[in-house]
Amino acid sequence: MRICSKCVLPETYPETSFDDNGVCNFCRSFRPFRPEPQAHLEKALKKARREAKGQYEVLVPFSGGKDSSYVLYLAAKVYKLKILSYTYDNGLLTPPSLDNIRAVTQTLGVDHLFFKPSAPLLMRLYKAALVCSGEMCGPCGIGIVRSYRRVAMAYGIPVVLQGAVPMEEGSGSPESIYDCARFRAIMETSGGVTKDELESFFMFPIRSELAEFIMLRFGKLPREIPLLYYHPRKSEQEVRDLLVNETGWKDMSETNLSKHFDCLAEPFTNYVREKRLGYSRRTCQYSNLIRLGEMTREEAVRRLQEEKPDEEPPCTNQVLERLDVPRQALDGVLRVPPLAYEENCMRKSRVLSMARAAKRTLKRVLGK
Ligand SMILES: [Zn+2]
Repeated sequence: MRICSKCVLPETYPETSFDDNGVCNFCRSFRPFRPEPQAHLEKALKKARREAKGQYEVLVPFSGGKDSSYVLYLAAKVYKLKILSYTYDNGLLTPPSLDNIRAVTQTLGVDHLFFKPSAPLLMRLYKAALVCSGEMCGPCGIGIVRSYRRVAMAYGIPVVLQGAVPMEEGSGSPESIYDCARFRAIMETSGGVTKDELESFFMFPIRSELAEFIMLRFGKLPREIPLLYYHPRKSEQEVRDLLVNETGWKDMSETNLSKHFDCLAEPFTNYVREKRLGYSRRTCQYSNLIRLGEMTREEAVRRLQEEKPDEEPPCTNQVLERLDVPRQALDGVLRVPPLAYEENCMRKSRVLSMARAAKRTLKRVLGK
């Protein structure tokens, strides 16, 4: 298989093309990270302070992982905000991440609560998503957004500080796995979840994308701010060191629990992506780190060889048992073709993915 000569993206990655030197289009069009204007953030936070209806100004979704811990640290120590932190318990949180949640909220002196949907329902949602679409991360992403809106509205909090980071860009699936219409279609196909259960999971379903846009625009839904996009970037190692020294956070990323050690199923979902798509989250993250100048290509190649993403990880049986997926169904999961439910997406997702494809094609044509 052909692999970019600068990063480690393979030709199987969607919309990839290579120039005469074997360099991929993502490396060619890469621009170093530049933070959004700090003044915009200050303005938004000032508004949040004014609009807060209760004792909290911002809600910080907190998994105990590196990025959300860093957001919580910045919100508490740098911006000195009145914070409610909350954890969406997806039923698959690992003991190290629970330890980190306890340690960091205690050290920073931040209020914290868990939002835990019915665990048996979650497992059936994961099972249905995995067996039908080959991907179980969708229900979790959808549940997180729904629940942080719910929690923020319940406590009168106008702003949610998200933990999205430049390093993770493009490391998701090429499928619109967080699209609600697609999700509904999968659940209907599976037959394993009733309509009422699905509605209870959605909490307050907004069926039309226009309604959602209007609600966001007029402040009827909490405003979402990706805090780390406004902050000068620190390297992965600098963030780790800071968290270890300042918050009591423990770094578990070099253990077999892998980079996203907050979810028990992460090594398994990564393996399924490698098998189904020909690359995993890791390939994309390492490629981003190479472009950001934080990892050499040799190091990335060595790590991928060591990590063997196409070998079944030790947690597989445990995940299958939790989800009540029979072992013999795994072969079928690994063979679900990419983009199987893509035509079921909301119009918004379809337009966005078409726009992304058009942009890449244009870049390719213009030779950038
Ligand atoms: Zn590349």
